Amino acid sequence: NRTNFEIVIETLTIKTTRTDHSRLAELDKTNLPFGKYFTDHMFVADYEDGEWKNFAIVPYGPIPMSPASSVIHYGQTIFEGLKAYRQADGSVSVFRAGKNLERMNKSAVRMAMPTLPEEIFMQGLAALIDIDRAWVPDIENYSLYIRPTMFATDAFLGVRPSLTYKFMILMSPSAPYYSKPLKVKIETKYTRSVDGGVGAAKTAGNYAMAMLPTVKAHEEGFDQLIWTDAKEHKYVEESGAANLMFVVDGKILTPEVRETILDGVTRDTVIQLAKSTGYEVEERRVSIHEVLEYAESGRLTEAFAVGTAATITQIYEMNYEGKAYPLTDLSTRTVSNGILAKLNQIRYGLTADEFGWNW
Ligand code: PMP
Repeated sequence: NRTNFEIVIETLTIKTTRTDHSRLAELDKTNLPFGKYFTDHMFVADYEDGEWKNFAIVPYGPIPMSPASSVIHYGQTIFEGLKAYRQADGSVSVFRAGKNLERMNKSAVRMAMPTLPEEIFMQGLAALIDIDRAWVPDIENYSLYIRPTMFATDAFLGVRPSLTYKFMILMSPSAPYYSKPLKVKIETKYTRSVDGGVGAAKTAGNYAMAMLPTVKAHEEGFDQLIWTDAKEHKYVEESGAANLMFVVDGKILTPEVRETILDGVTRDTVIQLAKSTGYEVEERRVSIHEVLEYAESGRLTEAFAVGTAATITQIYEMNYEGKAYPLTDLSTRTVSNGILAKLNQIRYGLTADEFGWNW
């Protein structure tokens, strides 16, 4: 019937329960703060007895769980963030979902959690988007933010990897995460991530530990932090929820991916677009002093953050140990603005998808 039915995609059967009250009509589609509103449905699955099962699409809502659930106590949880875009022809496309699955599985391995087979992730996502298709915004720069999450559900207080997990996909129609350029503080006291740690995993603890330093930075008048390496606070790592890029002498310079940095999908996308446009891209360790020196000498012409939520967000001022380094005028930033324009053309289906990124 129209409320309860099964969706069968290849070998995956998804028990589906359609909501009897869509909230879509109540949504103000022109006012969608990032991550605040959720679509009518969510995808859920359970990991038990060594396998994934109970694939379902259900109305978005609370999920019952034990107060002893190990995720609450020990934080064994990972997530992803990707976006679907309303295409120029009205269809819906997800951007580079396979990359997010790849990263989620890397996070899973690091956190001693089970990996997700491609079919469950991709087809679960496809079925969910299909049922909530009308929620994908059609306003410029808006998108449907997709949040896959996996967490430990054993009701057990012993410290060991959980034997059971829940996987879910939530979707949130959203405006861009940052609405304005950023003034950032180069953090030299607190540390996000260490060699041998979990910095490259998209796990809750990395965000929890960043709250206090970020709040302090806000209190000091900054929009965001730039994290530096744990050992010497000498090298640039990444920003709060985005990777960093600089344009120096016309070349793109970005910290190389290492185990202390999240390997951003947008970072990879921007690098590929930059190279195909003819820009040189240097991926290596980048020291704070060199960046500040480039800023002072005028060789640094652009600095920006790149991430799924952030897209490309300009940085207009950096601050290091109390000294402000104002950067070049935003209107002169031709490299990043050119790449952003090209990226948007691809994401919104306004030009040929030569890289095969839309799905
Ligand atoms: N670093 C961190 C810590 C992040 O949370 C994110 C957002 N996922 C990024 C970088 C950018 O990654 P992506 O481009 O895949 O969104």
